[in-house]
Amino acid sequence: MSGRAQLMWDEAVTGYDFGPEHPMDPVRLALTRSLIGAFGLDRELDVVAAKRAGESTLGLVHREDYVAAVKAASADPASAHGEYGLGTEDVPAFAGMHDVSALIAGQSVGAAEAVWHGEALHAVNFAGGLHHAMPGAASGFCVYNDAALAIARLLELGAERVAYVDVDVHHGDGVQAAFWDDPRVLTISLHEHPRTLFPQTGWPEETGGGAAPGSAVNVALPAGTGDEGWVRSFHAVVPELLAEFRPQVLVTQHGADTHFEDPLAHLAVSLDAQRAVQVACHSLAHEYAQGRWVALGGGGYAVVDVVPRSWTHLVGVAAGREVDPSSGVPEEWGREVFARARVLAPGRMTDGRWPVRWRGWDEGYDPADRVDQAVLAARRAVFPLRGLLA
Ligand SMILES: [Zn+2]
Repeated sequence: MSGRAQLMWDEAVTGYDFGPEHPMDPVRLALTRSLIGAFGLDRELDVVAAKRAGESTLGLVHREDYVAAVKAASADPASAHGEYGLGTEDVPAFAGMHDVSALIAGQSVGAAEAVWHGEALHAVNFAGGLHHAMPGAASGFCVYNDAALAIARLLELGAERVAYVDVDVHHGDGVQAAFWDDPRVLTISLHEHPRTLFPQTGWPEETGGGAAPGSAVNVALPAGTGDEGWVRSFHAVVPELLAEFRPQVLVTQHGADTHFEDPLAHLAVSLDAQRAVQVACHSLAHEYAQGRWVALGGGGYAVVDVVPRSWTHLVGVAAGREVDPSSGVPEEWGREVFARARVLAPGRMTDGRWPVRWRGWDEGYDPADRVDQAVLAARRAVFPLRGLLA
């Protein structure tokens, strides 16, 4: 098995573009790719463009009538008026939408295949992580659920246990829904509480369907949660579950919208804490999944200041050449940022909060603390179902 990592990239993914008024500006993907290049990280791993997901692959998760509706909206965007979630404010239809969405899905499926077959130990698709798409509907800026498709492809290839860990600020509802009744997939989502954020799901009581009790885990964090609480809650829930579940592959979603600068949500997490969780996911893949790790992007709407730095760190972690948080941002990249976005680039690869310190759950908890309450609710709802002590 190669220890080398793989970066999934096809320039055409930047065509996933809902228009100038939409928060998911594809410049975030282009700037991430160029920052990775500016650090020379693309020489440390294999850059691979996978083919776009075909109908049979999309059918592993999505309904045939939905795929047909995406194709119709793609061919005639003006015809989409909200059916199947297409042609809405969140998911406006655009020409070529099917092809580019299937291309992004193909990168995640290709990442899963490479990891499963041992062609790469880790594979990253930062254009992916479109976790809100449902089997039969678009939702929350997501057309095809590449994360669910990657997992479904692993199952098709024979995987018996796949763990999915989603640290986007939004609940990973589409992935949870796709595998709600499938005990082969453990989904864990850490997110801002559904009371204050889209998609208003991800309550701790959502623990999996009748055929798969305890297969869904939801840590619903209070608005305002910062670095210490966020990293603490991750460690208070994820490692024990992975130790019990023993996944053959770990799939992670690294939406960067937990950041305090993000305009669409209300957590207060820094780039440094995001990096700490990326490092933790990498370690957990080695500890519990024989190193097999598929890492995806996700949300993130501070498109210049946050997303490129966060996912460059992610690629550095996967490549085995972590970018030092104290590093300056390469000047060539700063010039590109100014040329493309007419704003000044951030200067360093840190928010000045490295190293992130947090208290371990085994050192005790405070029942009056709202982050600890969120952790407790998640543990109490699901740990007993998995034979673990809450
Ligand atoms: Zn998100």
